[in-house]
Amino acid sequence: PCITVCCGTGCRALGSVKLVDAFRSELAKQGLENQVDIKETGCHGFCEKGSVVVIYPQNICYFHVKSEDAADVIEKTIKTGELVERLLYADPATGEKLVYHHDIPFYKYQKRIVLGDNEHINPQNIEDYIQRGGYSALVKTLFHMTPESVLEEVDKANLRGRGGGGFPAGKKWRTTHDAADPVKYVLVNCDEGDPGAFMDRSIMEGNPHCVLEGLAIGAFAIGAKEGYIYVRAEYPLAVENLYAALRQAEEYGLLGKNILGSGFDFVVKVHEGAGAFVSGESSALMTAIEGRVGEPRPKYIRTAIKGLWDKPSNLNNVETWANVPHIINKGADWFRSIGTEGSKGTKIFALVGKVNNTGLVEVPMGTTLRDIIFKIGGGLRDGKKIKAVQTGGPSGGCIPENLLDSPVDYDALSKLGSMVGSGGLIIMDEETCMVDIARYFINFLSDESCGKCLPCREGLRQLVDILTRITEGKGTMVDMDTLEDLSGVMSEACLCALGQQAPNPLLTTLKYFRHEYIDHIKNKH
Ligand code: SF4
Repeated sequence: PCITVCCGTGCRALGSVKLVDAFRSELAKQGLENQVDIKETGCHGFCEKGSVVVIYPQNICYFHVKSEDAADVIEKTIKTGELVERLLYADPATGEKLVYHHDIPFYKYQKRIVLGDNEHINPQNIEDYIQRGGYSALVKTLFHMTPESVLEEVDKANLRGRGGGGFPAGKKWRTTHDAADPVKYVLVNCDEGDPGAFMDRSIMEGNPHCVLEGLAIGAFAIGAKEGYIYVRAEYPLAVENLYAALRQAEEYGLLGKNILGSGFDFVVKVHEGAGAFVSGESSALMTAIEGRVGEPRPKYIRTAIKGLWDKPSNLNNVETWANVPHIINKGADWFRSIGTEGSKGTKIFALVGKVNNTGLVEVPMGTTLRDIIFKIGGGLRDGKKIKAVQTGGPSGGCIPENLLDSPVDYDALSKLGSMVGSGGLIIMDEETCMVDIARYFINFLSDESCGKCLPCREGLRQLVDILTRITEGKGTMVDMDTLEDLSGVMSEACLCALGQQAPNPLLTTLKYFRHEYIDHIKNKH
């Protein structure tokens, strides 16, 4: 048997490192240390239930496991096969206890292509990744494909960027590949500053090799010999596991000079960010890597052509790169068989807010918001009614209850005035004030604006002032017109996407919850 213990950041905060020690000493006490394996894995996604333990081969799931429970788990489950009832998942509606990973609704309705390996791999051990087929896509690329055939495969898969814009990765790769300058770069964006979103952190912490493998495949296709990973310094475990993965990949000849004797050279460097939300914007991120202040620049010439040190540079986020080995191994047709017409594959969402089951969920593009919230999320807490869901991070929009049957994909959400964005899904119940929600997000963006251009710097400040006035019962109907006018100017005149998309939470709440603004103004509360 093997006892796996989630050692992602969420479970660590709940004591999973001590729990591993407790299991080890209990096994030693019982003389079972050579018969039972203990594995420290990456994040399973169900962080609120930590520490999460899965026992193989049976697939028994235990939640909220503490060091004090180790003796019982060994004594009962490992030695006699008896279940420890108190650690099992209890269905919030029926109270029924569920034993197996695949029966628990939070996991049952997901399709975990990118996240699935997290629960099996010790991220500090490259051999775990290799045993699960890791680096086979890189081998296939180097020895059985050409740069052109890789570009064609990724283009045919229609993999769209998972970091916000949804731009087709294949087209971006092609632009950098075709640029005349022979020195090119590939980059990973692990800046992830949206409140509540942590899917890139979980991948980088739990399965860093899949990102490195995707990046190396991209470098081969594009013609880059050097790659950079921009990672938030506030993600210490992701940084630690990334450095360990880099070291091991180099030792195994999977990165560096003449990879596996193929003649392809590729080195990767890490840049630890300093915590600015705006540094996730492509030109700001590249400026920061160059050692300057991470501010966006006008993109008359795209970074795919003139980016890092003015060289053609292809930037994708962690989740996008993590999809690449799967596309190469299983083919573009397999990838295209998942999702909707315009949005292929799966997407990882951070499901948070007033929902019973919070955490990371990976679903096929096109799954409805209602299914995510009610089937996977288990509905709302305390039997409350749902009012809205905010998608796409702080620059996303708020979608009302009557539109929950909308499929989640790039095009459907943008028609509703929102976006997939980085994948934040914040659930709000009937008691949530939507004006206050708009003010929270606008205030966040005002704090994070770099201040370089006036429409964003001053526009956001004005929006915050007006929204504060309205929530304090001091607003007027003229304020409503000013909010809309100012939002229109910002969408047109701001330099980067932070400012251009900042009014989204405001505009969607004005569109779908206008009566709440009017109530504040008329009833003066
Ligand atoms: Fe900076 Fe905002 Fe202008 Fe972007 S839109 S450059 S964040 S001031």
